[in-house]
Amino acid sequence: MNCAVIVVGAGRGTRHGGEVPKQYQLLGGTPVFTRTLMTFLNHNRINTVIAVIAEDAAPLFTSISEGLAVRTVFGGASRTASVRAGLAALADTPPDLLLIHDAARPLVSESLITRLIEAASPEAGAAPGMALSDALKKVDHTAQAGEDVARAGLVSVQTPQVFPFAPLYKAYKALADNEDLPDDLAVARTAGMKCKIIPGDVDNFKITNPGDLERAERIVQPQNGFQLCVTGTGYDVHRLIPGTQMMLGGVPIKGDLALLGHSDADAALHALTDALLGTIGAGDIGDHFPPSDPQWKNVDSTVFLQKALDLLGQQSACVRHVDLTIICEKPKIKPHRAAMRARLGELLGLDPSHISVKATTTEGLGYTGRGEGLAVMATVTVSR
Ligand code: MG
Repeated sequence: MNCAVIVVGAGRGTRHGGEVPKQYQLLGGTPVFTRTLMTFLNHNRINTVIAVIAEDAAPLFTSISEGLAVRTVFGGASRTASVRAGLAALADTPPDLLLIHDAARPLVSESLITRLIEAASPEAGAAPGMALSDALKKVDHTAQAGEDVARAGLVSVQTPQVFPFAPLYKAYKALADNEDLPDDLAVARTAGMKCKIIPGDVDNFKITNPGDLERAERIVQPQNGFQLCVTGTGYDVHRLIPGTQMMLGGVPIKGDLALLGHSDADAALHALTDALLGTIGAGDIGDHFPPSDPQWKNVDSTVFLQKALDLLGQQSACVRHVDLTIICEKPKIKPHRAAMRARLGELLGLDPSHISVKATTTEGLGYTGRGEGLAVMATVTVSR
């Protein structure tokens, strides 16, 4: 069975906004029209692809259809006139079945095309339809909701619509020259042709209104619109001892206290490192830097943090947000908060607006309350 498709893309697409008509705008880096044509060109049941374009868009169309085995015809002022031009181009070598599709429905699937071809016959056409799920209301010119419209028995109809060529061609020829009908089912109906509605595809929407292109973009490139975000938590404690300086959150805090530890004992960086490792299930800081190993003696804890960041990088994981809570009676954290956020921002490659440093006491209770130790809790959000 010989199948041809007319892809109608002669519209100016002004409702969508933008200077370039919607069917020429990029979707996942490829023009919408090109995507639509490719789906039909790659379909093993389609023998001929005709593109109907606006005459003044010819140079634009040439630039997006290079190398594609597509016949081009110029459309008319209305959709009906455009399809008529496509039909005329097929009249000399008529196919058995003709599909007619909107160029601005680039997400039409191979399986929908196959189902439609199967559903059509030499006598009857077929088209995809979607049952309606929203309540339907009439609306007056002041946007006031009016009477309800019964939903039962209604469908919204998509394309491609498929017809036996000869009777559809005849139906078009019988129309008045200036006739403009909403779709090809309407034309078929004027000639009394039967057409079956089969289930459509929710992704086969027409790029019409602002936001439609972004929705299509989310479908073709899901990573653009949706990233898996995971959370990691870390917790670390170091003993407080008399001293002159401690490292905390990557910054030196001078005073009469120090933190005791094998490394520089920066409990904030240790908790943060553990939280990062947690997002990729890469164990804990002790697995990577055993305290028994002398090479980590007095080491700058940014080394640990960098190792965790390298491991995340190997898994294309990206740090999005950090939230630290420092638990101690002393030192006072607030005067150092801005410096910590700035330093952590440098270390993580993150804007300080995505780094939170909080502090709390334990009201004199427990080891932190007695000033024996300082604890830090870290929560990080990472996209993968
Ligand atoms: Mg530690």
